[in-house]
Amino acid sequence: MMQNLKCPNCGDNIAQQDINISAALAKCSHCGEVFGFANLLSVTAKPLILIPKGITVRNEGEDLIITRWWFDFSWLCILIICFSFALFGIMMVLNMLPAHPPLEEYEPFSPLILAVIGSLFGFYNLINHTEIRINSSRLEIRHIPFAFTKSKSIDVTQINQLYCIDRSSYQRSGENEVCRFSVWMVSNNGDHQKLITGINYGMQALYIVQEIERYLKIVDKPVIDEVTM
Ligand SMILES: [Zn+2]
Repeated sequence: MMQNLKCPNCGDNIAQQDINISAALAKCSHCGEVFGFANLLSVTAKPLILIPKGITVRNEGEDLIITRWWFDFSWLCILIICFSFALFGIMMVLNMLPAHPPLEEYEPFSPLILAVIGSLFGFYNLINHTEIRINSSRLEIRHIPFAFTKSKSIDVTQINQLYCIDRSSYQRSGENEVCRFSVWMVSNNGDHQKLITGINYGMQALYIVQEIERYLKIVDKPVIDEVTM
């Protein structure tokens, strides 16, 4: 919805009937000025997303750093449960060791491996985060401190558009849909490239897109399959 469009020549308010939204053109009935407002339209068409939970933003010189924390309450629960089991099991095994029992007696403890793996996985998701660093020359994305996927470094002049999609790999679990969102870019030659994946909350993905576009002053255009507010 366009609101309070003002004439760039005389500053008068433009009446609704003098605005052509589809052509992004308006005519001032006061001074006769005809002007385009495409930039204004794309900025006002999308609601501003406030910083969502799980995201922190800071500046370092000219760099804008957006951090998405992987932390989730469910990971904390997994960590606590698995770690308690692992700790309990390891203590039991250590207690048995001095008596040198035959190997079969250790068999009941084989699920311990799962508890250890669960603990490590919970810990990994608890402290890991994705850092998106952007400045006037490059967009860098890396996962810290444990990176199992390669970091990305992109020349910002190659970025034409950014958008967010819902991978539709959601499972129906009761009433809730577990969606995973990802952030993509369209380069100047029209290629689509995935930048960040596995984001549970759409608001985080939309916020990342919004902030990168704002920093790079990219005028947002709709992209097929894009998730919007
Ligand atoms: Zn005017």
